[in-house]
Order: sequence, then structure tokens, then C-alpha cells
Amino acid sequence: MIFLSKSAQVISSLGVFLMPEIEFKISKFNFSTLQKIFQVSLSLKLIQNNMPFSSFGLSPALLKVLADQNYIQPYPIQKEAIPAILNRKDVLGIAQTGSGKTASYVLPILSNLQGNPGTKNRHAKVLVLVPTRELAVQVRDVFILFGSELPERIKTLAVFGGVSINPQMIGLQGVQILVATPGRLLELVDSKSVHLSEIDTLVLDEADKMLSLGFQEEMKRIFSLLPEKRQNLLFSATLSDKLSGINQIILHKPVVIKTEPEKENIDLIEQTGYLVTLEKKGPLLRYLIKKEEMKQVLIFTSSTFQADNVADKLCKNGIDAIAIHSKKSQGARTEALREFKTGELRVLVTTDLLARGIDIEFLPYVINYELPRSPKDYIHRIGRTGRAENPGEAISFVTPEDQHHFRIIQKKMGKWITMVDSANLDIMKHP
Ligand code: AMP
Repeated sequence: MIFLSKSAQVISSLGVFLMPEIEFKISKFNFSTLQKIFQVSLSLKLIQNNMPFSSFGLSPALLKVLADQNYIQPYPIQKEAIPAILNRKDVLGIAQTGSGKTASYVLPILSNLQGNPGTKNRHAKVLVLVPTRELAVQVRDVFILFGSELPERIKTLAVFGGVSINPQMIGLQGVQILVATPGRLLELVDSKSVHLSEIDTLVLDEADKMLSLGFQEEMKRIFSLLPEKRQNLLFSATLSDKLSGINQIILHKPVVIKTEPEKENIDLIEQTGYLVTLEKKGPLLRYLIKKEEMKQVLIFTSSTFQADNVADKLCKNGIDAIAIHSKKSQGARTEALREFKTGELRVLVTTDLLARGIDIEFLPYVINYELPRSPKDYIHRIGRTGRAENPGEAISFVTPEDQHHFRIIQKKMGKWITMVDSANLDIMKHP
């Protein structure tokens, strides 16, 4: 058995090797253990040459959580963003969900806040603007997770619309890091529940999505309420014209970081298309879930109506499924996501709106019950699997009418997908 801890050496039957980061105690010696030691010490050396998290000067409390979470090597965006943010530089990160961008700003922000926590009540020091409630909750959770071992407690709160404002007003007492959707933030500012005059770091996460959801005016108003001297961190999946406008307003000599994780992620995803008629989609779905013994699957539909419909039919056939979409209450969405993340829920059915907000590390299957409109959405959808360098499988249902559109998606993606004709499958075997 191998135990990992945070101090200093590798002990093996081969002798004692001093390693600066990690201690391995080997309790049982056999060939495979020795093999593991060799592989681990080899990969540790590679990591050492390759810049470990400890080389950034992050505090032991942050390094402990990184080790607990099994973050061994920084992802490319983290290698560049962490030192820049620690140095209080502005950053423009062109990076998709799945690239590790959240930790790339959460870690240095927590580090910078140590010893500089802010004193005025209801005056946040850090503001993270996000487009959706789901992303707000997710980002807040990453701040809380990485802040959990810090000697000084840092209060982080997520605020978003669609739920009662009162608990958020009360919760803003003593807030230091505020994660917010733009509209609700302005309501809270207008009611003087929070003040933005002490913000010294602003993060715009998924800025392109905020613009496409029409938050531009709100964002401008928020910028006007912030102190002029501050650090600005802007993350976006794409660099559109509108976004360039925002860059120019807020960024000062930014460090520009571009990552292309989608290509890397897609390489880990096995993609299959199933030719199927409209009326056979339901039976094919049940057949695949049962035949492949899918433990967890995320299904995409193109409308809220269809999402409910697919979830209902699965439940009626004894497959545990819930639909979440914009017409469901926030409480129901959060609860379904929680159940899905913990593995209690087998099937989650959703629409494109939530595609970016869902972050589940080991999600093995994504099914496009209906194809998305754009190739970009296709990549976002299938990118929900194959995350954090794990393999995954993406299945798309393609009706005869969809075939032309599916070819366009493949062409844009630069990859041709294996097609299976479902007419040749014994779908009724697992009805
Ligand atoms: P994000 O792009 O921030 O949504 O992160 C995508 C996923 O990668 C999340 O599940 C993170 O927990 C995970 N992750 C981020 N950085 C690392 C890392 N350096 N090592 C391992 N997992 C990571």
C-alpha cells in the first residue's frame, strides 16, 4: 500500500530517496509495488522539472488542499495565470470550461488575500462575475474548498437571481469574496447590501457568455462602481469583437494566455453517431443505457419540453432520471445537480443553457438526444465528458433529416465520427 503525505522522502526496499514534496511509506513489498514506486518517483521527477504547484510560492494550506484533491501537475493555463495573478498583473485568459481556469484564479486570489483580508463590513475585496447561477455556485464551492485549510477564514458568498434576495442580503455581512450574476448584484448594490468601492480584484468568468446573454449594460454599470485601481482578470472561451471592447475598457497591459483544451479533451472522447428515426429514439436510448450498463449519463435535448418528456419516459421505464432546465425552480436544479454529482441520480436530462455549468469529473457518457444547433455547442456538450483527462463517450442520435447538419458539425470539428445504423440493432432486447 502507498501512503502519500506532505513532507519529504520515498522509502523503499531500494533505499531512501529524498524527495522535496511527498513521502511514500511502502508497507508491502512486491514486484508491482516496486513498479509503482519507480513510476511514481519517475513521474515526480518529471513534475519537478515541469514546475510543481509548490514552485509558485503558494502557502502550505493551499498546497495541502491541492494534494488532497489530487492536483499533481498544474494545467497549462494554471502555469501561466497563477504567477501572473500573484504578481498582481491583469490577465486575459482565452480558455474553456475544463481547462482548469477556475483554480488558475482561485488559488492566487486566496493567496493574495492572506494578510490583506479587508476590514469594512459589506465591502467585498474580490468580485467574480459569472453568467449563470450554476457557475456562481460552482465557483463559490472552489473558493470554499481551496480556502478550507487557510489559517484566516475567508468569507465567500454566491449571489444570483431566481431565488429570494433576503438571505443574500443577510449573508453579505462580512463578505470578502463575492461571486455574482450581474443583475442580482446590482439589486444588492442598489439596496446597499454590498458596496463595490473596496474591490481590488475583478474576475469576469465566461465573459463571452455574459455578453451573449445580454448582460453588457449591467456589466458596464458594475465597472463604473468599482475603484479605478484594481486587478482585472478576464476569462472567455472565445475572443469576439464585443469582448475586445470590454478588454479595452478594463484590462491594463494584460498577460494574455490562450489554451486549446477542447482539442485535447476531444481526443479523449470516443464519439459515435446512431442513425435513428424519430419514433425509435426513446427505445434506442433505453437500449443503450441498459446494454452499456451506463452508471451515469447526461442527456441533451433541444427544448425544455423535450427534456421533461425524455426524463418522464425513462422514469416510466424504471430508469432514474430528472430534467433540469430554465423552467425548473432554482431549488430543484441545485438538488438534481447535487444528486447527479454524488452519483445518487443516474440520468440527468438538460438543455444547452446548462451545458457549461455542469462540472463532473468522471462523467462517462453524454448523449445528444437531439443535435445542438451549432458545432460550438456540440463541443461544449460532449466536453462534459472526458474532463480532467479522463476518457468519456459521446453518443449522438442522428435522424435522416439531421444527417447533413451532423456532417457540418463533424467538418467544423475536424473529426469524422463512427456511425452505427440502429436498424441493425436488436433495440427491443432492452425495451
Ligand atoms: P475548470 O476548467 O476550472 O472547470 O476545471 C475542470 C476540471 O479540472 C475540474 O473538475 C477541476 O477540479 C479539474 N482540475 C483543474 N486543475 C487541475 C489540476 N491541476 N489537476 C487535476 N485536476 C484539475
